[in-house]
Amino acid sequence: MSSSMYAVEKGRETGSNTAPGPILLLGAPGVGKGTQAKELVKLWGIPQISTGDLLRANVAKGTPLGKVAKELMGRGELVPDSLVDEMVAARLKEPDTAKGYILDGFPRTLGQANWLDGRLAAEGNALPVIAVSIQVDYNQLLRRITGRRNCPVCATIYNIFMNPPKRDGFCDVEGAALVQRADDTENVFKERMRAYAGLTAPVVEHYRQLGRFAEVNGDRPIQVIAAGIVDAVERLRK
Ligand code: AMP
Repeated sequence: MSSSMYAVEKGRETGSNTAPGPILLLGAPGVGKGTQAKELVKLWGIPQISTGDLLRANVAKGTPLGKVAKELMGRGELVPDSLVDEMVAARLKEPDTAKGYILDGFPRTLGQANWLDGRLAAEGNALPVIAVSIQVDYNQLLRRITGRRNCPVCATIYNIFMNPPKRDGFCDVEGAALVQRADDTENVFKERMRAYAGLTAPVVEHYRQLGRFAEVNGDRPIQVIAAGIVDAVERLRK
């Protein structure tokens, strides 16, 4: 077992690893940002902040933000920066973010990145952000996205092609009927990839230039990718 794989296991046992401050998980739709964020939450005990999940919760509750977001998300387009920034600002005020947090799916535009950088600088930047970009090729992403199914009860993620549940259509843990996200269809995936290439790829370049940045290959087993992220974060925090 490599030292970082060991760290992943050890962190799980003890929860004692040092919190790493703010971490950004970047990458195209389907690279596994959510899956990796959940691994890192177990290891570091800091929260995952997924703007996609927060927006979906607003849609489910029918809030004014949810009403605006619903249509845009359904088409695979981005929700306007000002609305997402405000939502993230509110989430970052929660006390559980004090030792750090894992931003999953934010920032997705240069406008959001500038907003976040400004906010962190204004707070004194005790621990500057580390950005990790997860890379997976296009055809693999298409299979991941169109095959993805979620348990609505425990949020376990399956893939009908690569990681199917034992009983077709039902969660192994809860027995609940699995659901597919409305935007996980091939057509919406293509639009999300267009938004990624046009608006989010420059964010990756922005953080690459700033230096506290790493790229990891996302086409490997979950634990191996998590170990790669831990390695990168430990190296960049030195
Ligand atoms: P995700 O769950 O991260 O794939 O996000 C699903 C959808 O939510 C995206 O296709 C966007 O419509 C919207 N969304 C999530 N995060 C953002 C963000 N940072 N900025 C704008 N829109 C977002």
